[in-house]
Amino acid sequence: MGKVIAVVNQKGGVGKTTTVVNLSASLAAAERETLVVDLDPQGNTTSGFGVSKTHQDNIYHGLLFSRPLVELYITTQLEHLKLVPSHRDLTGAEVELQTIPEREQRLKLLLEPIRAHFDYTLIDCPPSLGILTLNALCAADSVLVPIQCEYFALEGLADLLETLRRVQHQLNPQLAMEGILLTMYDERTNLSRQVREDLSKHFGDSLLKTMIPRNIRLGEAPSFGKPVLLYDIKSKGAEAYLHLAREIIAHGNQKKSAR
Ligand code: ATP
Ligand code: MG
Repeated sequence: MGKVIAVVNQKGGVGKTTTVVNLSASLAAAERETLVVDLDPQGNTTSGFGVSKTHQDNIYHGLLFSRPLVELYITTQLEHLKLVPSHRDLTGAEVELQTIPEREQRLKLLLEPIRAHFDYTLIDCPPSLGILTLNALCAADSVLVPIQCEYFALEGLADLLETLRRVQHQLNPQLAMEGILLTMYDERTNLSRQVREDLSKHFGDSLLKTMIPRNIRLGEAPSFGKPVLLYDIKSKGAEAYLHLAREIIAHGNQKKSAR
């Protein structure tokens, strides 16, 4: 049975999209059948794979018009990786979904018939805790939370954890914590080390061992519409995401509490 991982943080610019694009590519490189769902109206994951944000097959059609995902996912440059693109119309979905029954469960229902076809499904979320992110949390088995190594790293985390607890109580009791991922880590700075220590105290085992360094190649790759391992496989960024894929695979289907 495949594992569905929501990549969530309501803070903007912390590395959610970079993680979805490069972790999914690394899982696919390890020959795991992988599906990416771009649930962010910004569509950065979609363009990160070199796909247009106006592609006719997209998640908006699934969420609003119940088009099955099997009709919506498209191939990518990697053999084992499929993508359900975002679309700019998704911007209106937060409002449009309000009138639809079971609006938080739309993605879960869409994924049900195909989740077993994939070893991993990664969902990229927008930087908010609105209805789209709720759909991801209802559909997911686990959450991966990227946190940027900066002074305000822990700010907003309490709101996120509270949302996770509410979702567990009311909508998805099975939701587990895949891990907290440190991104844009710079081992030369005291600040990065301090943030890591703070997070380790707070989260113990939930803090993933892999840290993603600040790496210019990770920033450049999306402008070529490629995951970093197709752009510069020898870069520190590519190495780190391959390492992360191994750590996630090693987790297997073990479940930890999301608290
Ligand atoms: P949003 O909340 O807007 O969706 P996000 O959380 O998805 O943002 P990203 O888009 O992945 O964040 O990253 C924000 C910016 O930082 C991007 O320009 C990205 O290329 C860059 N970036 C992310 N991770 C790294 C890294 N490890 N090293 C260097 N640049 C990075
Ligand atoms: Mg993003």
